[in-house]
Amino acid sequence: MDLNSPLFQSIRVKREPQRAPVRTPCDHPGCVEGGEFRAPKGRLREGQYFSFCLEHVREYNASYNYFRGMSDDDVAKYQREAVVGHRPTWNMGVNRAGKGHREDGVEPEGFVDPMGMFRDRTRGPMQEPRRPRYGLAAMKALTTLGLDETADAETIKARYKELVKRLHPDANGGDRSSEDRLREIIQAYKFLKSAKLT
Ligand SMILES: [Zn+2]
Repeated sequence: MDLNSPLFQSIRVKREPQRAPVRTPCDHPGCVEGGEFRAPKGRLREGQYFSFCLEHVREYNASYNYFRGMSDDDVAKYQREAVVGHRPTWNMGVNRAGKGHREDGVEPEGFVDPMGMFRDRTRGPMQEPRRPRYGLAAMKALTTLGLDETADAETIKARYKELVKRLHPDANGGDRSSEDRLREIIQAYKFLKSAKLT
């Protein structure tokens, strides 16, 4: 067969499946537009792309730019906060909306809390403490005093007084080990004081 014959050429062209333009849908949830625009999926998915319509590629690019220029650590931190940060916000919103809580468990504004989950949270002896945030050095000092991150200025002061009294050489017959421990505690307290945490 003569492969160069005009007849064969025309047959071959006709047999070639006609590539109908495949309409990729926009990847934005619920969008029915065509996804004519490609957008990189991002840092950890190199070489992968979303298909978006013009409106959604613009929206995506705007949010994508948000991370540009941020270090990997900053992005990771942002994502962590986005995950854990949204839950307490939601709970606080519920608490605020709940105003007073009634004994029968039926909350105002139709909010029913049969398990008493939110009631316990607002009623407990802790009364939503404003937890101070301590840095690493302060946390170390608190640990030395036998405290954790829930300790406030008053607690630190009280614990320090108690430990000094308990570990004072006069109360321990000049015991060397309690003297060393006392020195550590004074140092830790001095640090917390200098950091204006107590
Ligand atoms: Zn779209």
